[in-house]
Amino acid sequence: MKISELFNQKTVMSYEIFPPKRSDPIYSVYDTIDRLKDLNPDYISVTYGAGGSMNNQDMIKIAADLKNSLSIESVAHLPCLNISRDDVRNIIRMLHAAEIDNILVLRGDRNKEIRPKRDFKHASDLAAFIRKTGDFNLIGACYPEGHIESRSRAEDIDNLKIKIDSGVSQLITQAFFDNRHFYKFREQALIAGIDVPIQAGIMPVVNSQNIKRLLSLSGVELPKKFKLMIDKYANNAEAMREAGIAYAIDQIVDLIAQGVVGIHLYTMNKPYIAYCINKAIKSLLAA
Ligand code: FAD
Repeated sequence: MKISELFNQKTVMSYEIFPPKRSDPIYSVYDTIDRLKDLNPDYISVTYGAGGSMNNQDMIKIAADLKNSLSIESVAHLPCLNISRDDVRNIIRMLHAAEIDNILVLRGDRNKEIRPKRDFKHASDLAAFIRKTGDFNLIGACYPEGHIESRSRAEDIDNLKIKIDSGVSQLITQAFFDNRHFYKFREQALIAGIDVPIQAGIMPVVNSQNIKRLLSLSGVELPKKFKLMIDKYANNAEAMREAGIAYAIDQIVDLIAQGVVGIHLYTMNKPYIAYCINKAIKSLLAA
């Protein structure tokens, strides 16, 4: 099923997981999946490291098991910076064979240690290539505060329009901690002619390590109340976790009240956090 069809039926709730590191057994992620299944996800997306490593096999296996063994719609992430057209053709063939209909087309983060292949420069190039090659629902990433490499938000939105015109039919945002960025971005996107569903990506920050990594990659702004929360609870793991969950719930309640079409939860493979958030908001999704 192409998940873009869901948005005119309900407020979509999805969860993102990642394949275990190469050193860990693949089955460790299936405990997470078993517990997410109880939350009735509209879909689960599976990340894929942009290193161009061989972990696409794990990503595809997990996405295929979600779809075919557990009847949960799945989304395969596909970063293109370090792979060739032939690699993409192979991956697409495997996704097609596994009856996976949804791909999150991505450029991927740059890695100084890996020289990018030259076939795809941007996610929009990958979208255009797949659009010609197969019948998939294509999803794209977007950035309420602008992508870290963009000179301005306006430029980033112009580039996003290229991604939509290349075949992307829904978007998921990078995490943000001040909903005002999301509302402003949604409005500016619409003015630029981007009228596809935009799901808000929410990251419950449950330890200070998460936030350091996110900041180094994305440059998102941290509102004062968020910084105060981190400062107060950084040294108390349990309190930090509860505060991070409460902050995410607060964001989601406001987003749903203001008509967001869907929430995408970055679970970081921590099903307890997803469970707490789902419990607090599930009646809002149905209302
Ligand atoms: P692009 O859309 O290519 O944008 C990158 C930069 O290029 C932006 O500054 C943009 O303005 C500019 N640009 C875009 N198109 C054009 C164009 N046609 N011409 C000129 N400039 C252009 N990374 C992973 O490695 N694996 C994952 O599984 C993964 N999952 C993610 C899931 C979500 C929901 C999000 C938000 C991000 C994810 N990422 C993942 C991170 C992502 O790969 C990085 O944010 C990366 O830096 C940009 O990817 P993109 O697809 O947005 O790139």
